[in-house]
Amino acid sequence: MTKVCKNIGIVAHVDAGKTTLTEQLLFASGATRKVGSVDDGTTATDSLTVERERGISVRLATETFYWNDHQINLIDTPGHVDFSAEVERSLRALDCAILVVSSVEGVQANTSSIFDALQYLNIPTLIFINKLDRAGADVERVMAEIHQELSPNAVLLQQPSNLGQTDAGISGGWLKTSTPSQFTSEELEPWLQPLLECLTELDDEFLEAIIESVPVTFEEVDQKLSHAISCNEIYPVFTGVAKAGIGINELLNAIIHYLPNAKQNNNAALSAVVFKIEHDQRIGKMAYVRVFEGTLNARDKIHNATRSHEAHVIEDKASQVKRVIRGKYQDMDCIEAGDIGVVSGLQSAKIGDILGLGDAVPDAYQLSAPLLTVQVIPDNEKDFSALASALTELADEDPLLNLEWLVEQRELHVNINGWIQVEVLQAILQQRFAIQATFKQPSIIYKETPTQPVEGYECYWMPKPCWAIVRFLIEPAQRGSGVHYESKVSVNQIAAKYQNEIQANLAKALKQGIKGWSITDVKITLIDGSDHVQHSRPGDFIIATPMAIMNGLNESDTDLLEPILDFQIQADSELLGTLTSDITKMRGHFDAPEFQGNRVIIRGKFPAATSLDYAIKLASLSGGHAKMSTRLSGYEICSPEQGQTTAYRGISPLDRDKYILWARGALQ
Ligand code: GDP
Repeated sequence: MTKVCKNIGIVAHVDAGKTTLTEQLLFASGATRKVGSVDDGTTATDSLTVERERGISVRLATETFYWNDHQINLIDTPGHVDFSAEVERSLRALDCAILVVSSVEGVQANTSSIFDALQYLNIPTLIFINKLDRAGADVERVMAEIHQELSPNAVLLQQPSNLGQTDAGISGGWLKTSTPSQFTSEELEPWLQPLLECLTELDDEFLEAIIESVPVTFEEVDQKLSHAISCNEIYPVFTGVAKAGIGINELLNAIIHYLPNAKQNNNAALSAVVFKIEHDQRIGKMAYVRVFEGTLNARDKIHNATRSHEAHVIEDKASQVKRVIRGKYQDMDCIEAGDIGVVSGLQSAKIGDILGLGDAVPDAYQLSAPLLTVQVIPDNEKDFSALASALTELADEDPLLNLEWLVEQRELHVNINGWIQVEVLQAILQQRFAIQATFKQPSIIYKETPTQPVEGYECYWMPKPCWAIVRFLIEPAQRGSGVHYESKVSVNQIAAKYQNEIQANLAKALKQGIKGWSITDVKITLIDGSDHVQHSRPGDFIIATPMAIMNGLNESDTDLLEPILDFQIQADSELLGTLTSDITKMRGHFDAPEFQGNRVIIRGKFPAATSLDYAIKLASLSGGHAKMSTRLSGYEICSPEQGQTTAYRGISPLDRDKYILWARGALQ
């Protein structure tokens, strides 16, 4: 049975009321019989104990419900900036989104970055202004912020009433039957004029009709509006009080009416993406999958296009296919095109993997990259192995943790975004795995790049039997360009199978440079070398490559690169002097400040290392009235004093004899 289906993401800055809104949507649609409450820890989507205790969503959660013959898959995402990676992963699964904004706090730092991502990916977005009942609710001010910070093409389609009072609600709406079926622009209520203005800007003929006071029909205007929303030319704005269930039916009708359905093509070959991994205690690894084309059937063998080059990965079999309804799995026979589901049995699947053909899968979008690395230590040494396997499982669910497990040193390191994430990880380790662990002081993640072109050479032919001779040209490359590799050596000199070994292990060789950080912005060219018909064995070039690279880097030396953030600070103008002096002290720089009434907006760049605690300082400095948003801008050179080096983890290829013994498995 083919059904109309929409995959809708709910996104927001933390505390805007996203989880409460999700509960109300489920309740209004009849999916739940009671409204769960964030404050009592009884919501359907916050299922982790830590989420219920802290009242914050950490993982994205999905829920399916039905409204007016439409199937709606809601994807509830975490709002705290430390968990932006979860939001980022969900974006690929969406057809449209609801962005929740509080009518008191307005557009917050995280709101803008999420909205940018939605715009970049052309995901039609409806904005919901929540909490009309709270003291200080001001829809006009929030609309001005939306126009300024998100899009000038956001159009309010409802008229709120009794703002800031317990009986706050909605007194009129474009979609309400009160809108006349035919009208001239003068006859339309003043608060709906911005809608006409926005539409006339998109359509010259319509502009002419409006100027000449030609009557237009509701149908005609509404169709133009629908079209503009589906093309991301207009962002409709609705309002309500999620906590009291006000504005929920109107929102559901607007979702059906304005937000696009998933495209459905069941007859094509499978084209799907994994957007979340979860481990169920009973069933094991579960992959959340969005199918764009084709059908994914239970018991099908699934081709994993992303991992097909990995020798050990063949085809996994989808053993069971399920859907999440009210927080519980329910069996399905298949996931059809346009739908999402949860699949067990895909053992090799990782987040972001493309299943079948990737043609219909949209591009990925990176909102965040962890800036900090931290060592995790079990409180009880005998828990080390359990902690290592728990972190391995968690890194499967969140690849950005990038777990580094140094077996010999018995050390575990993960990458993180901030302290909230540390607290949440600590709680998950305790609640899900019964492990008490401590996180050491985190360090900024620096990188390294060669200071000048240099050759890296290694002649690994002793102790026999072995033979791998390589010479690389290692050159610094443009900032932000990453790693490029090329071989100028013929397969007669070094056989193709060995050249493949070199290329496949290059990333590992570049993981730590001479200052302990990963090497980037570098061009590496294999310019010379040889294998030996008798003496070369598989693995010899894997051992020789890191030695050659490290030899070169050691000779050329490397520059430290530090993460630089783009920032935007909005505060009362009287703070301008303090802010600019703080920014300069943080080694930052800024553009000419922009004034809006008694507020000032400063944009610029500062290093992550000097600004980690600035959001907290700014909050106390401004009495909570300033806003700051930051985003990784890139990496730039810093002096050794400004940055930090770290000891080589494991045995360095520069410690040649020991490294060879270790690499050959001969070290005890
Ligand atoms: P999330 O972090 O965006 O998921 O926000 P939550 O749904 O957890 O809500 C954050 C807080 O705001 C909770 O204490 C809710 O009870 C409260 N809240 C949510 N919606 C409303 C609303 O419409 N009015 C008021 N006054 N409070 C609300």
